[in-house]
Amino acid sequence: MSKLLILILLILVLAAIIALRYRRQIQTALYIWRMLRKMRRMNKPQEKQIEKEENAKDLQLIRCAKCGTWIPQKNALNLRSKTFYCSANCMEQAVKF
Ligand SMILES: [Zn+2]
Repeated sequence: MSKLLILILLILVLAAIIALRYRRQIQTALYIWRMLRKMRRMNKPQEKQIEKEENAKDLQLIRCAKCGTWIPQKNALNLRSKTFYCSANCMEQAVKF
């Protein structure tokens, strides 16, 4: 028998002894680990929903205050809190008048 085999056997025996001795602790640890995994899985759909809501906000169409073109809010230029323009051109014209 090679030294490596003896070492592996020793480690296995040691692991078996530890497993028997700390059976309860290992079971508790496994239980906690499973709970954490379950919690993580439960949290994931919520994250996705938040992402979706943010995407929806990006895709929300708003109307240019100058020419009336509908554009996604993320592309819109915003001068005052509720006034959006489709381009710098429209914004400039709106400021002039
Ligand atoms: Zn416009």
